[in-house]
Parts: sequence; structure tokens; C-alpha cells
Amino acid sequence: MRFLPVFLDLQTGPVLLIGAGELARAKMRLLTAAGARVRWYATDGNHDVSGLDAAEAARIELAEGDPLAADLRGVIAILCAGAGDIGTAMSARAKAVGLPVNVMDDLSHSTFIFPAIVDRGDVVVAVGTGGASPVVARRVRERIEAALPARIGDLATFIGRWRKSIHGRIPEFPLRRRFWERVVDGPIGALVLAGRGDEAEAALKDIPDPSAFAGAQASGQAEGRVTLVGAGPGDPDLLTIKALRALQDADVVFYDELVSSEILDRARRDASRVPVGRRVGKPGIGQDAINKLLIEAAKSGQRAVRLKGGDPFVFGRGGEEVEALREAGVAYSVVPGITAGLGAAAQFEVPLTFRHEALRITFLTAHKAKDAESVDWSTLTDEKMTVVVYMGMTAAPSVRAGLLAAGRSPQTPVGVFARVTRTDAQAAVGTLDELPALVRQIDGGPAILIIGDVVAHSAPWRNSNLAQLVSYFQVAAE
Ligand code: SAH
Repeated sequence: MRFLPVFLDLQTGPVLLIGAGELARAKMRLLTAAGARVRWYATDGNHDVSGLDAAEAARIELAEGDPLAADLRGVIAILCAGAGDIGTAMSARAKAVGLPVNVMDDLSHSTFIFPAIVDRGDVVVAVGTGGASPVVARRVRERIEAALPARIGDLATFIGRWRKSIHGRIPEFPLRRRFWERVVDGPIGALVLAGRGDEAEAALKDIPDPSAFAGAQASGQAEGRVTLVGAGPGDPDLLTIKALRALQDADVVFYDELVSSEILDRARRDASRVPVGRRVGKPGIGQDAINKLLIEAAKSGQRAVRLKGGDPFVFGRGGEEVEALREAGVAYSVVPGITAGLGAAAQFEVPLTFRHEALRITFLTAHKAKDAESVDWSTLTDEKMTVVVYMGMTAAPSVRAGLLAAGRSPQTPVGVFARVTRTDAQAAVGTLDELPALVRQIDGGPAILIIGDVVAHSAPWRNSNLAQLVSYFQVAAE
């Protein structure tokens, strides 16, 4: 991010506008409609302000003389639109005194740029693309316009009016935040959005005990809880809507090493982030310590999210955490995530079941060779069973040996799928016999193994056959 979106207080001083023609007039309309005072240097001498209403026109001060010699005291920003070379010179002056300056369509001489704006009264959304593409910004804006309730601005104004008095009645910040969340998400918010502000006003007045409304416990503290959230295999767009909501509401996020930074970035900005997984070369803090942290966070009134790669209940030790929370009497809930096996299947087009061909699926883990030895491979002999192996990279030779010993054909198709749904995802496909060699083709985990005839339907398999066919014909042609 090169340009940080901030909101400029237009009440604090005039904006200097330098330029002429339609470009300058368009900016003038934008600024005056937003409530700015504009000091305008018309570089062509034409100070025509027709098209503005009287109130807007009254905020324009027509300036004469050389803009490069303009008095900059009290000016809050400088804007050059259709100003020609004066824009460049003005930019240098502005930079010298540290004033924000925008030269239209000239990123190199601008220290701020204009976003696309969604304007709903007190709710304003700014969309930027770092100056790269106004068209993309406009498309994003359209989507936001469509998603936002028309009266969202009224809702903000409504809360703004009540903030002070509620502040006085709920001194504790986390509880206050929850009070407003309940207002916004509940019937009072719905009334405002439906244009029934008077009824909303009455309903808010009628709340006898704001702390209790906010869910305070007998201690007067906010109620804490833990949400186990499945983060999916990597692509942030695979988060569920519930997962996103839990992340947005969190006070603290305890996350695993498998969780990507893009996903963490979807959490509330003010939430603390606590890594609790293993790091490269470093062991994790251990399951007991994690349980303790979760319980402590909830008991201190925080909303904790325990964010785990994939699904919390698939080889994620979510079961143990839930047990510990239950024992400690902490409120919890579980939000499922897309497990790595399903992510791999979708991305690489491995239908895990297939009419007549694959009727069962087994998810198993074989972390170390030792684990692989303790797997009862004789239960996996069914040729119509797709086997999905988690944490199976190191133990690949034992997985191969176990399945072969159980009578699976060495020609059974297998796939090794690494970093699935991430931008650097990778696949290697071949036969069960070749499994250890396939794993060696992979440039690092995490990776999942899928074993079964269905792998022959996968995209990499089809492509590798195509490649073989092409090279066969190339050889034949030579
Ligand atoms: N709860 C997780 C699994 C945790 S066990 C889930 O439901 O996906 C860790 C193993 O998951 C890894 O060793 C690997 O086998 C698999 N895994 C997790 N993320 C993965 C990814 N993005 N690509 C491939 N395999 C992944």
C-alpha cells in the first residue's frame, strides 16, 4: 500500500484549486459538494462557476495573481487540475512546505490521490488502486454501493447522537463496543435502516440497563468466549462468512503456523494476534499451554478466535481444545473450514467419489514413519476407496509399502498436492509405486496425498498424459 486512506477535515481551512476548464470545474464540484472552502486560481482567467448551487458557490473564493506566489498559510491541501506546467511547479512548492498536493493524472507530482467515493452521509467509503486504475476502483465502488443499505449513513448518525450518553452509562470499552454491535445488528438497527428512526430512538431510550443489554455478566464484565475457526487451506476467499464475522469480532486471534498472513489480515485491525503453532526450527508452545491461553482469554472477557488451517476438527486437535474449554466452563463454538483434502480436490479436479469407481473416502494421517506403521493398511484395500493422507510427506515410503503390502496395485494413481489453493500451489501425479519420487518433486509443504483411481481424472494427470502424447508424436515425427 503506497497511499494510506485518511479523511481530511474540510472545516479546518481552504483547499487551493489551481487550473482551468472542465477538469478544474469537476474537481470544484466534488470539493464544494463535500463542503470544502475552495480558493480558486483559474489559470485561464475564466472564473465561471455556473452549475453550482448558491451555497456551494458561496464557498468559492476567486483568487487573482500568480498561484506560485499564493499565500499558503492555513491551506489544507493543494489541487491542480488542468493547470499545465503550473501543476508541476506548484507540486514542488507544496512538497517544500509539506502540504498535501494532487496534480491530476500525474502520480509522480502528487502526494495524495483521490479515491472513488461511496457517499452515504456519515458513512463514506474510499476506494483506491494506488492510482493504477480508476476503472477498477469504480467497479469496486459499484459493488459496495450495491451491498450497502441505503440508510447506512442514517445509522451512523443515529449512533453518533447517542454515543456520549451511552459512554457515560457503560464506562468499560469492550462492553460498550458490544452494546453498539447489538444495536447495529439487532432490531434497533433494522428500524433505522427501514427509515423508522423515531421508533428506533424510542427503543434505545427504553433499554433499562445498557450493560445488561450488552451482555455483561454478574461481575459487570463482558462475557468472553472462544470460537474455533477453520481458516481453510490458504486462499482467503475460501473463508466462510461465519469465519469472517468471527475474525471481525475478535479481540484476540490465536493462530497456527498453517494460517497465511492474507487470512490474518481479515481479522479486526485492533485484535491482538498470537502465534501458537510450530515455527520453522522452533517447537510450538504445546497443546496444554494453548488450552490455557484460550481459557484465560475468555475468562478475562475477551472474544478469542482460535484460527486453524483447514478445518478445526480434521487433524487439527480442535477436539482437545473443545474438551478443555468445556471443562473450564468457557462458552465456545466451532466454525468449520475447508479441509486441505477438499481444497486439493477442488483445485486439481480430483473427484473424491466417482460413480462406480470410488464409493468411499478415508482421511488418515501418517506424520512419521512410526505412525504409518501403526495404520492398519488392511482396512484400505478396497479399490473403490479414495485415501487422503495428511502430513504424509515424510512417511511417503511407508505409505507406499503399507498399501502395496495390503494388496493395492502399484499402478494405483496417486497425487501429491502441495500448498493447495495458495498462489504457489503445486502437484505431482503418478502411480503408487512412484510415490516417494513424486514427493521429492515437490518444493516444500504442506502437502497432501490422494491415492485412488479418481486421481486419473485430475487436471494434472490429464495434462501429463497430453504432454506424453505430444512428446510421443514429436518423437515419432522426428
Ligand atoms: N486441519 C487441517 C489439517 C492439519 S494437519 C485441515 O483440515 O486441512 C496438517 C496437514 O494438513 C499438512 O501436513 C498437510 O498434509 C495438510 N495441509 C494443510 N494445509 C495444506 C495445504 N494448503 N496444502 C496441502 N496440504 C495441506
